[in-house]
Amino acid sequence: MSKKKIQAIRGMNDLLPDQTARWQYFESTVQALMRRYGYAEIRTPIVEQTALFARSIGEVTDIVEKEMYTFDDRNGDSLTLRPEGTASCVRAAMEHGLLHNQTQRLWYQGPMFRHERPQKGRYRQFHQVGLEAFGLEGPDIDAEVILLTARLWEELGLIEHVTLELNSLGSNEARSAYRDRLVAYFEQHRDQLDEDSLRRLSSNPLRILDSKNPDMAPMLNDAPRLMDHLDDDSREHFQGLTALLEAAGIDYVINPRLVRGLDYYCRTVFEWTTSALGSQGTVCAGGRYDGLVEQLGGKPTPAVGFAMGIERLILLLETLELVPEAALDELDLYVLPMDDGATAEAMLVAERLRSELPTLRLQLHCGGGSFKSRIKKADRSGARLALLLGEDELRQSRATLKFLREERDQLSLSQDALAATLAPLVAVGHT
Ligand code: ATP
Ligand code: MG
Repeated sequence: MSKKKIQAIRGMNDLLPDQTARWQYFESTVQALMRRYGYAEIRTPIVEQTALFARSIGEVTDIVEKEMYTFDDRNGDSLTLRPEGTASCVRAAMEHGLLHNQTQRLWYQGPMFRHERPQKGRYRQFHQVGLEAFGLEGPDIDAEVILLTARLWEELGLIEHVTLELNSLGSNEARSAYRDRLVAYFEQHRDQLDEDSLRRLSSNPLRILDSKNPDMAPMLNDAPRLMDHLDDDSREHFQGLTALLEAAGIDYVINPRLVRGLDYYCRTVFEWTTSALGSQGTVCAGGRYDGLVEQLGGKPTPAVGFAMGIERLILLLETLELVPEAALDELDLYVLPMDDGATAEAMLVAERLRSELPTLRLQLHCGGGSFKSRIKKADRSGARLALLLGEDELRQSRATLKFLREERDQLSLSQDALAATLAPLVAVGHT
């Protein structure tokens, strides 16, 4: 009887060991960076009440209209798998009093869920690293957040391959005045709007600017620009930001059509984009959302943040071959008892080396077998070095070090000298 094998859900990927090595390289780089800038990690549940996202992201955004994984809990509550991290972060910070007359610099990472058409760089379960800074109003924090991302690209070797795009969405008042102006313009060019845009005309006209439809591009290029109709405070804020970026030597381009797909943004919005990934070119996106905390029932609290798509960044690192070899090797040393009589001693030697060289990646041969098959396993382990322990070695408290990937004579070493000999031979210190 044949049984159909159960497979993973479309758009939700398994990450196998050769991939997780790349992820760990990226994640450890990010973690270290967040610490260096004084950001603390926050972890929230992946499921929230549906209302949280509807109220924060906006009822007429793509995410809320058609991308959320929403279901009824057994007791009838409407729950949603989080499609992004900001709403949860704001909810948690409010719920635990983190926003009471204080600033917070927080970051998070984890899976997000959106029911989109899966394609390269676009999945239904994907992962983001995000950051949120609360309680700071001036452009200095916007600049800091951007500098942090720029340093990340620098460290990953990506800085030459990404572009910073900036825009300002102004205050709510300026935006709503602009919205009327924009709707009037679109009404005049109604015949050039596609179906999606016609639908957005009444609900979310700013999003039309974000359309990828090439037929509409000339008309959109001539549309009135929010940048030309900013309120004075927002204009000053934006000028403050660009001045700080210039002082720090960060290149940017102003993209007046940059609006972002979530409703809560105001003033600064930015994206880091790349041309190396086809149409899924945004690797990091963020901006200011001064009104969101209040909208969710808290006190008015200025805030700025971003989220980056880890899958897209890993794809980019892979495409450009930027993951260091050392991050991909799995093992330094394979410790091999030559027969079953040497198992106990080999285990002791392995444990001792793990104590003496805490970053050494050491695998102990388990599972017995003939000498020939043991050697084969050592070879297949991917380790650069093998340490052999047999009857002769045990009698003299020695071990034999074999070089598996280079033409080099094996060494007979006293067990006491192993750590000192191995330390310079392996990538000790790499995590
Ligand atoms: P896009 O315009 O590409 O759909 P978005 O505006 O919906 O992006 P955000 O909500 O701002 O994206 O999310 C921030 C980042 O998360 C994106 O820039 C992207 O790198 C990543 N991201 C968003 N949706 C997906 C997805 N379905 N699969 C993989 N990564 C994604
Ligand atoms: Mg999207």
